[in-house]
Amino acid sequence: MRKYVYYFGGGKAEGGAGMKALLGGKGANLAEMTNLKIPVPAGFTITTEVCTYFYDRKGGYPRGLEKEVERALARVEKEMGARFGDGRNPLLVSVRSGARASMPGMMDTVLNLGLNDLTVEALSRQTGNERFAWDCYRRFVQMYGDVVLGLKPEKKDDVDPFEEIIERAKKARGAKTDADLIVDDLKALVRDFKGAIKARTGKGFDEDPRAQLWKAIGAVFGSWHNARAIAYRRLNRIPDEWGTAVNVQAMVFGNMGTDCGTGVAFTRDAATGEKRFYGEYLLNAQGEDVVAGIRTPNPIAKLAGEMPRAYAELEKVYRRLERHYRDMQDLEFTIQKGKLWILQTRSGKRTGFAAIRIAVDMVGERLITKEEALLRIDPMQLNQFLRPIFDAAGKKKAVAEGRLLAKGLNAGPGAASGNVVFNAADAEERAARGEKVILVRIETSPEDISGMSAAEGILTARGGMTSHAALVARQMGKVCVAGCGALEIDYQARQMSAAGKVVREGEPISIDGSTGEVLAGAIRTIPSEVLRVLLHKTLSPRESPDYRCYSTIMRWADEARRLRVRTNADQPDQVSNAVAFGAEGIGLCRTEHMFFGGDRIDAVREMILADDPEGRRAALAKLLPMQREDFKGIFRVLKGRPATIRTLDPPLHEFLPHSEAEILDLAGKMGIAEKRLRGKIAALHEANPMLGLRGCRLGIIYPEITEMQVRAILDAACDVEAEGTPVRPEIMIPLVGVVTEFEAQKAVVDRVAGEVFAARGRRISYSVGTMIELPRAAITAGRIAAAAEFFSYGTNDLTQTTFGLSRDDAGAFLARYVEEKLLPEDPFQSVDQEGVGYLMRLGVEHGRAARPALKVGICGEHGGDPESVKFCHRIGLDYVSCSPFRVTIARLAAAQAAIEEKRAAAGLRGKRRRGR
Ligand code: PEP
Ligand code: MG
Repeated sequence: MRKYVYYFGGGKAEGGAGMKALLGGKGANLAEMTNLKIPVPAGFTITTEVCTYFYDRKGGYPRGLEKEVERALARVEKEMGARFGDGRNPLLVSVRSGARASMPGMMDTVLNLGLNDLTVEALSRQTGNERFAWDCYRRFVQMYGDVVLGLKPEKKDDVDPFEEIIERAKKARGAKTDADLIVDDLKALVRDFKGAIKARTGKGFDEDPRAQLWKAIGAVFGSWHNARAIAYRRLNRIPDEWGTAVNVQAMVFGNMGTDCGTGVAFTRDAATGEKRFYGEYLLNAQGEDVVAGIRTPNPIAKLAGEMPRAYAELEKVYRRLERHYRDMQDLEFTIQKGKLWILQTRSGKRTGFAAIRIAVDMVGERLITKEEALLRIDPMQLNQFLRPIFDAAGKKKAVAEGRLLAKGLNAGPGAASGNVVFNAADAEERAARGEKVILVRIETSPEDISGMSAAEGILTARGGMTSHAALVARQMGKVCVAGCGALEIDYQARQMSAAGKVVREGEPISIDGSTGEVLAGAIRTIPSEVLRVLLHKTLSPRESPDYRCYSTIMRWADEARRLRVRTNADQPDQVSNAVAFGAEGIGLCRTEHMFFGGDRIDAVREMILADDPEGRRAALAKLLPMQREDFKGIFRVLKGRPATIRTLDPPLHEFLPHSEAEILDLAGKMGIAEKRLRGKIAALHEANPMLGLRGCRLGIIYPEITEMQVRAILDAACDVEAEGTPVRPEIMIPLVGVVTEFEAQKAVVDRVAGEVFAARGRRISYSVGTMIELPRAAITAGRIAAAAEFFSYGTNDLTQTTFGLSRDDAGAFLARYVEEKLLPEDPFQSVDQEGVGYLMRLGVEHGRAARPALKVGICGEHGGDPESVKFCHRIGLDYVSCSPFRVTIARLAAAQAAIEEKRAAAGLRGKRRRGR
């Protein structure tokens, strides 16, 4: 029979760290810690399979579950020496979610479960602390009412009935905080809360602890599908099918008095990666108080003075856990009457900076291998190294002008300016209109997740480095200043004030997530340290620890990867940036981008609108020297690296004048009547230009365009080679569907090459290849490869033509497709491996069958998407090409692909050996 419940306690657990899929991250780690003899309160985990069952059967449970829960509960009672629901010595439990991937705060939790009118008295007698007992009880009734009975407000303007009652009680008592309420007030709160429950639900509060337990289990399973959990999963690509486990665990209390406390700690700094134990705690508080950001907690170092014994043990435990898991851990602990309990450990979320620094340091400490280090970094996190910071002069000026409003915690590095909004919905709305916003909240809650994602940065008045805002912002890679206590935020008036200044909704502010400063007004941002070392050369590597970590990781990535990484660039400065980021050549130079600069567009328009080949040649002759200079600039920067240069591709109408003034101006320049010009423009109109006269069709209809471009490329190549710089031109024909199209264009290329070489008395080695961006090209790749020397997948067009989906119009509705799971992902961002990927695989296979040495790459936008890069590795491409700022991402993704492949092969070999 299937096992649904896994017990842990007393140094022995039925589960372990390897069982995350079944027990969730929290459950698996609680079991692991128990086995490591780390002090963990006893409990049990109900598996994720029960969650799946629960959803399949609309809230039903598998047979036998109840018995298993009862048996596990009895073991917890025995271990903790207390009984659930007992009138003299009651066991209280927490009921928490715990999915395979951590989803901080997204699902529900119920604490202090098991309290009722009878057990509260027992708890009071046992602890000799009546106030504590009733404080637990009122917290429980509120949490149970909110989470289990559904009284928690859903919309931003709804009020929580319990909060209203508390506010009334505080007013009546003249109390500033909850802590000022006396026992009688707490008792009255419990009574009034129960009244509110009755009034709202028509039913009384559940006094029976077993009913409480089962309803809470149901509510936690139910929270897997609440709106914020769904939003979080979508943002973090966590599959809905995984489900959550439920952990039922004996309560320990950090709020029984001043010899108690609770906290959260990281074994290394989650913002910078520095190796130092780092965390926060509150004395006499319940666990949720620290993460919820209600009170601003103390730094962990202070605990060493306040509770030396517990602190010493905590240090021992954290070192043990980090060594055991070989990764930075994020742990939750509670100290009850001086005794330390660990409630959770997990791999800590960290910024990109921290991820890289920790990985590099741990290799140095021989905790992990270089390969493990590479696998632990999310390639997208590298973006943070390229993220702007404030211009120091601009910031100094702002400070001198008295615009420094306040200082909070530097919770998410980087610099951001934007207009203030005070709630998540407004952030989303304004960001959708293209406005840059900073989301300002007293504290964030999981409901704010979509708004946080839409904002440039997040600023909160309450909460520490481990608050929800800080955790989520770091994970999203957002700039964040948290716990900025000096801010007074007034949601009603839609304004905030600090340092005697008022900032209203819609006004600009700037936040520095590296220092915690908050400033009024916008401040100019400047490039990061890595950019200053690599691109601007205004900082030496020695002066930049960030750069050193970054370059170490990139060096390891380069050692591990097989796939080459090139860039899509068409200007010398872009190429030079990309080379600094590690590009090994150009994968796509879109020559049409060179047609827009200065008054070139006039010559292009003349060429398009000419009546005959002579007219076109005359116009092209004006373009030739300009293109030649462009290519020379590019070859010089490349210093012998390969350059794939594509002949003209886009529909001609993209170059035509549209406005009245432009048409008049051009008619004047060309010396023709405006009416005639209009007639020509109308004649060039196409109903569906993306499928019209574009790509190689242009060069076939107007061979003189290809001639001019090839002449410019090879002339430039001769010039630069004559200067002593090697060149490697690769000429690429776009949008080929039939091999004859390619052959016709290649004949033009070869003829012009012969002419240039004869005229220059010099031969340049060049190759001619094609883009594969039509299904027909992929299907007939064998025939095309017989003529073409290389392929480059144009996955933008290949996606468009495979789906029959306009790449320019699909944005309007594809998001809905993804939301409604008709597609797992936007296929223009990440390769549709099943469909487009099938054609790519086919093209590689047939192409290489015809020409074994065929070089194959990709130059569509997908070349910088980590998952697509890995796919390209798996199907055997030679290189990916992407925009300069994504080159580093592609290098790391390529390394991960190679390591993953090696590991899979080793795993397979191991399996075969064992099977023998
Ligand atoms: C492509 O189609 O993927 C491609 C790289 O070409 P373009 O985006 O210029 O059409
Ligand atoms: Mg294309």
